[in-house]
Amino acid sequence: MGSITLSKVVKRFGEAEVIPPLDLGIRDGEFVVFVGPSGCGKSTLLRMIAGLEDLTEGNIEIGGRDVSHLAPGDRGLAMVFQSYALYPHMTVRENMLFPLEMAKVDARTARDKVARAAEVLNLSAYLERKPGQLSGGQRQRVAIGRAIVREPSAFLFDEPLSNLDAALRVNMRLEIAELHETLGSTMIYVTHDQVEAMTMADRIVVLQAGRIEQVGTPLELYEQPRNEFVAGFIGSPR
Ligand code: ADP
Ligand code: MG
Repeated sequence: MGSITLSKVVKRFGEAEVIPPLDLGIRDGEFVVFVGPSGCGKSTLLRMIAGLEDLTEGNIEIGGRDVSHLAPGDRGLAMVFQSYALYPHMTVRENMLFPLEMAKVDARTARDKVARAAEVLNLSAYLERKPGQLSGGQRQRVAIGRAIVREPSAFLFDEPLSNLDAALRVNMRLEIAELHETLGSTMIYVTHDQVEAMTMADRIVVLQAGRIEQVGTPLELYEQPRNEFVAGFIGSPR
């Protein structure tokens, strides 16, 4: 259901080939981290999967269905950005209800889904607050809550913790890992932080200049880095 397959995916912005032909298979339920230096194409790749960016060539399948030409809202995915993008004038409850109202989910079902998501995210006590009355970590949880209520087949995270301070980051890392355990959904998590990649991933995709340098478990990359770049980036002794 939540498997994601990229076949010969290419992205050019004008003359610049940001992603040369790229193949990647992600299994249903897997937690995959895209890691690499700033500008290597992590966000572009994620945005193409989300449908926020056209493919120049190639195709993308989600759960065996070619979604290359589907609008973002029809791909069954949820994208969580680093900017919280919450509505400041709405309460937490209203923020989480909003995507369900847009999808014309009936009010009672919507209320139940929001209550369940709030429970999973420890937000039940904050439902009547506005984003301005929440901490950074809580706001990030509301953003995740808005994604959860739609029960997506996969979650896409683009550096969701980069606005948070170090202590909170560690905390949220654990919470996202827990969420993955609870929901069992496919998750793709973009970061330029090696520690985040090593601690969260089932498999890591190391990118450089739009190319996949190596794909493997954290242990595989640490013990058998394919080249100097991977070794340097993952921090293995080589
Ligand atoms: P990352 O997320 O890894 O930091 P990006 O995917 O944002 O990298 O960017 C990859 C490359 O594509 C960069 O060189 C960036 O300048 C370029 N790029 C991204 N978006 C656009 C755009 N809309 N137009 C032109 N170039 C872009
Ligand atoms: Mg980026």
